[in-house]
Amino acid sequence: TYSLGPKIRNWDEERKVWLSKNPEFPNFINGKPRILLVSGSPPNPCDNAIGDHYLLKGVKNKIDYCRIHGIEIVYNMAQLDNEMVGYWSKLPLIRRLMLSHPEVEWIWWMDSDALFTDMSFGIPVNKYNDYNLVVHGYKDLLLKQKSWIALNTGSFFIRNSQWSLDLLDAWAPMGLKGSVREEAGKILTAKLKGRPRFEADDQSALIHLLISKKEEWMDKVFVENSYYLHGYWAGLVDRYEEMIEKYHPGLGDERWPFVTHFVGCKPCGSYGDYPAERCLKSMERAFNFADNQVLKLYGFKHRGLVSPNIKRIRNETVTPLVTVNQFDIRHSRQHSS
Ligand code: UDP
Ligand code: MN
Repeated sequence: TYSLGPKIRNWDEERKVWLSKNPEFPNFINGKPRILLVSGSPPNPCDNAIGDHYLLKGVKNKIDYCRIHGIEIVYNMAQLDNEMVGYWSKLPLIRRLMLSHPEVEWIWWMDSDALFTDMSFGIPVNKYNDYNLVVHGYKDLLLKQKSWIALNTGSFFIRNSQWSLDLLDAWAPMGLKGSVREEAGKILTAKLKGRPRFEADDQSALIHLLISKKEEWMDKVFVENSYYLHGYWAGLVDRYEEMIEKYHPGLGDERWPFVTHFVGCKPCGSYGDYPAERCLKSMERAFNFADNQVLKLYGFKHRGLVSPNIKRIRNETVTPLVTVNQFDIRHSRQHSS
């Protein structure tokens, strides 16, 4: 039978010993847990060349957020496992990274098609001290309605721990490509409200696992919706101008969404649920909305939300340090405490 790797049973103890022997690689720095953001895309070029351009924008956007917030970043393009391909590839990757980076406390998976749109928002990481998995969603949709969109696995935190290794083992079996995945898809469609007919996907499989074994798992799962750890793009991208007018970065919620996720758009693949034109224009808007927050430090902004071109927003000065203190997000960002 398939497994993600040899069964590990004493990770918490082994990791603790390792951490004590390697004090130069602490899992907490100044009281803050070390976080590794992980994303990735297929090893080969996109079906459509424009897809690669948007993947690049997605990478740039993630680098910007992580630089500003002192988060490490891994981008994977290798297929680590022959069975867990496509959207399932995050599972073996997360496991591998946990085992190879014992110093990392939280792994943060983020889809390639999700963009940070609030560059100032700092995640309230201390809120999650007693939890091992943090995922955007709604408990009521999950446990009562059993909806297939109760949670979104496009952006989530998972703690480096034995619990998480066990979760990955329990989560993975439906992901075996081919007939297993096809058959599992039928079960998931039968059990989850609103789920279309298609092969098993990682999101539905996690929802199904948490519903069917809630006593075993749910006490360590934080279902987050006080801000958009994942934000569905369709309701957000047309409101950016309104947000700019009324609000400011740092809020992270519907007033200024932390993440805008292009669910159902497949710029790198050949089919999607939405017209490609609409997806690309919307991604461009989200990217530029975010990029303006980055460019502000340098004194520029995009000419409009769909324009790659920029314009100056203030004159050069002979006292640049004043603007550094005023505009560097790192000086004003919301500290998680
Ligand atoms: N992905 C990957 N390698 C692959 C295919 C997908 O790393 O070969 C990642 C990529 O970041 C993508 C995520 O898995 O955004 C989810 O897959 P997909 O795009 O198919 O699903 P969606 O984002 O539409 O839910
Ligand atoms: Mn996605």
